[in-house]
Amino acid sequence: MTIQWFPGHMTRAKRQIEEKLKLIDVVIELLDARIPQSSRNPMIDEITSSKPRLILLNKADLADGDMTAEWSKYFRDKGHATLAIDANSGTGVKDIAGKAKELLQEKIQRQIDKGMKPRPVRALIVGIPNVGKSTLINRIAGRNIAITGDRPGVTKGQQWIKSGGELELLDTPGILWPRFEDPIAGFRLAATGAIKEDLLHIDEVACFVLRDLVKHYGPVLAERYGLTDLPAELADMQAAIDVLEQIGRRRGCLSGGGHVDFDKAAGILLRELRAGKLGRMTLEAPDEVGDTPGTKSTE
Ligand code: GDP
Repeated sequence: MTIQWFPGHMTRAKRQIEEKLKLIDVVIELLDARIPQSSRNPMIDEITSSKPRLILLNKADLADGDMTAEWSKYFRDKGHATLAIDANSGTGVKDIAGKAKELLQEKIQRQIDKGMKPRPVRALIVGIPNVGKSTLINRIAGRNIAITGDRPGVTKGQQWIKSGGELELLDTPGILWPRFEDPIAGFRLAATGAIKEDLLHIDEVACFVLRDLVKHYGPVLAERYGLTDLPAELADMQAAIDVLEQIGRRRGCLSGGGHVDFDKAAGILLRELRAGKLGRMTLEAPDEVGDTPGTKSTE
């Protein structure tokens, strides 16, 4: 789904989520485990501050397990519950209801003390496009349901999806805009396929992501593409271009005159990265939050 996020649409998306918050107990914020910071909506804390939050690190099957553990700690330290999941295969999904209940423990206990039967936890899934909201809702529902979400400007009636008597989920997720005002987040979003790469130059996306890959996974990259003299970190854009050129030569991406076709080389790198062919990789670490303009947490 392609959404053009104009300021009016953002205001509308924010208002639609605020309306839904009145119906639910817990916000389930879905993030991409490979880019937990870049895949967060920049205003999420402000928009959902009235409700407890469960942060799901989705696509954990593609992310680096050690880094996912670090990110889980980072969000837990901020007072959120966290869980790493893979909505595609269903790994971790059965633990969502329990985690959501943990957030409401005191409220549930009060109901029990009054002799009331605790009702299921009601939740709303929110996240940027392509983070896996529909996949997760379908998995929880146990069937394929048409999920349109609220496109900016379109509303429809709400339905509850019931899951095992413990969790009820609104069937339309809250769709929020990505952090595209921050250029580095934009490149990471494009690299993972969260935003269309044709919005940016593919060779530039590849060069930016190479900086992340060399920093965190240099030896793996060197091994896969037969790279020599790979530094521990790429100091500048030219260093990234040199690495992309080596990848292009190794993979035979040549245009006339023996020059490397950079777009072709970039396409190979990004395709292999997204498909997990380079191994499980996370592009950003919690200690980088706040390093670049626009990525600073609002908490
Ligand atoms: P939405 O726009 O947030 O509703 O995202 P979708 O549910 O349509 O998912 C976007 C893409 O991510 C689809 O191609 C899904 O198959 C894929 N996807 C969703 N969850 C996972 C996951 O946990 N692991 C992997 N590898 N892919 C996933």
